[in-house]
Amino acid sequence: MLDIVSLILGLVSTNCYLIADSDSGEAVVIDPAWDGTLILAAAKKRGWKIGQLWYTHAHFDHFGGAADIANGLNPPPVVALHPLENELWQNMGGGALFGVNITPGPAPKIKLAHGQILHLGRNEFEVRHTPGHTPGHVVFYCAKEGVLFSGDLIFHGSVGRTDLPGGDWEALKKSIREQVFSLPDETRLLSGHGEESTVGEEKHENPFVNTRE
Ligand SMILES: [Zn+2]
Ligand SMILES: [Zn+2]
Repeated sequence: MLDIVSLILGLVSTNCYLIADSDSGEAVVIDPAWDGTLILAAAKKRGWKIGQLWYTHAHFDHFGGAADIANGLNPPPVVALHPLENELWQNMGGGALFGVNITPGPAPKIKLAHGQILHLGRNEFEVRHTPGHTPGHVVFYCAKEGVLFSGDLIFHGSVGRTDLPGGDWEALKKSIREQVFSLPDETRLLSGHGEESTVGEEKHENPFVNTRE
């Protein structure tokens, strides 16, 4: 079983997901947006041990809390990122465009790739490469739990912006259609900003990429 704690953190209300294997208490943070000490406290309160940080992409608002998490853990957590995001990561997540400075925290060690399987206890997550918002954006899919962590690819009623460096509207639409809408309708969609949704709801209602057109 998988336990999921959602935290809304930082300047642009980013959804950070602290997830744990219910049996072992092993935990991972998907997009440690901000307030690393708060994320650490949420894990500690539940007796969970954070081993890895998985990034959907390297915008500053998705890993601004990594340094504080790393400072509070020994050994520090291992960071997973798609290599096409390395440039953005080295660029401090593009925060300068928004007047935001972050401390980047540990350098990425796990190179995410399309089709790769990540493990958290007995839970398996499939990495799906979904360029469009950024070139190396990925989503994490846990089939057994029926949940997709979709980062800034698709939101409840909206989609990720493509006007920032590396953005590509056609690629974004293709990623959504091929990597998200191919999943079962009842799949929970836990995105980087805003409310929870489902694949089916977005497939039919999302004004940017619905399948009615
Ligand atoms: Zn983003
Ligand atoms: Zn974001």
